[in-house]
Amino acid sequence: MRRGTWLALLFCLLWLAAAAWPVGAKGESGKTAQLAVVTADRVNIRQGPGVPYRPLANVHRGEAYRLMKVKDGWANIEWKPNRTGWIAARYVALAKEMAVVQENRLRLRQEPSRDGRIIGHLAWGETVWVIKEDGEWTEVIADGTIGWVSSAYLTAARESSISHQTGIVTASSLNVRAEPSLKAARVGRLVLGDEVEIVETNPGWYKIAARTGLDGWVASAYVQVKSGQANEKKAEAPQSADRSLLSAFGQSGSRRYVDSWTRGPVQVLAGKTIVLDAGHGGKDGGTQSVGGAMEKTLTMETAGRLKEKLEAYGARVVLTREGDAYVSLPERVDIARLHRADAFISLHYDSVADRQVSGVTVYYYDRFADYGLAQSFEDPLSRLAALPFRGVAFGDYYVLRENDRPSVLLELGYLSNRSDAATVATDDYQEAVTTAIADAVRHYFE
Ligand SMILES: [Zn+2]
Repeated sequence: MRRGTWLALLFCLLWLAAAAWPVGAKGESGKTAQLAVVTADRVNIRQGPGVPYRPLANVHRGEAYRLMKVKDGWANIEWKPNRTGWIAARYVALAKEMAVVQENRLRLRQEPSRDGRIIGHLAWGETVWVIKEDGEWTEVIADGTIGWVSSAYLTAARESSISHQTGIVTASSLNVRAEPSLKAARVGRLVLGDEVEIVETNPGWYKIAARTGLDGWVASAYVQVKSGQANEKKAEAPQSADRSLLSAFGQSGSRRYVDSWTRGPVQVLAGKTIVLDAGHGGKDGGTQSVGGAMEKTLTMETAGRLKEKLEAYGARVVLTREGDAYVSLPERVDIARLHRADAFISLHYDSVADRQVSGVTVYYYDRFADYGLAQSFEDPLSRLAALPFRGVAFGDYYVLRENDRPSVLLELGYLSNRSDAATVATDDYQEAVTTAIADAVRHYFE
């Protein structure tokens, strides 16, 4: 063989070796924890950034892969450990974080608006991928569906190694398992209110360590990540490397990257958790008006309207019951504790033997913890035109006495009084009284 042939062969071999080297499998990886979440049902992963390249495998809607780099409208992703391939960038959305849903039956909408069509519901504790934020709305991928949810109901979570986060068990009994699977051996049990350290996360599972020394995997749906720590994460600025990476996306596709977790204008009640307790429910109807209206129905009506108003001020609102359900008094207090409520407001309508008695009363139990909150109702409620304000009074009610969060109980009119009963059932009154309550809450925190 002539010398020139040897050289040519060597050159070919070197070229083949270079071409076979997995692009982007080293170098900048690791640094950017950016993820590409597949947004189409079934998409090809190809050997190179273009349709002529051979397909290697299929990926599916909702699956998330580490993003290595972006080139000419193609994303290079790690589709298997240490194996990368290319996917058309228009079929992926970039997600940097996972978030945990903090509300039951959270509405997933098609557009970032209250009028957006509801395309699904998310469960409390469910983890979602965050694509971007727009005002008070966050675009997420949940179970392969892309939609918008109200940002107030999400807290950030890390995809892996959330070393310093703690969580609280929200189920009365929770199995701890050796592996993140329902089939895995049970190694122990946690109970409602147990505090655990979250060491690692897997979709749907948390690896936890309890103070007792117990460790293992639990279903993440029953562990609430403490919100205070999640806020620290939100303050983290995305790395500049990510921005240049993402500007490539901006040119190629319809998705525009918005720094994750930058919030809209600061609202008066942002960061506050208000627990609204619609009195009675289910088998417990409460009192009944002379006209036949049930207290439990009225309290739910008031809670619903109030929730909307408080949310408009940026508060996170948790209801102690959804719909016409029976919830015991200890459970109602537990909800305030678990959510670390900044204020607990119990809503009721009154009844007494004397049918002349009329008006609105604010009850508190603890002179120190509750009185300040109770007092802030005085001014807005005394300006209510429809019913007289009877004042702020001490009340020995279970939901106040056993509550370690600032709490008040509002009696919003007498169903035993014919005129009160007719008034409280009107749209005008419900609007006026919930506006007054929302004002009171705002003043309390201002
Ligand atoms: Zn009641």
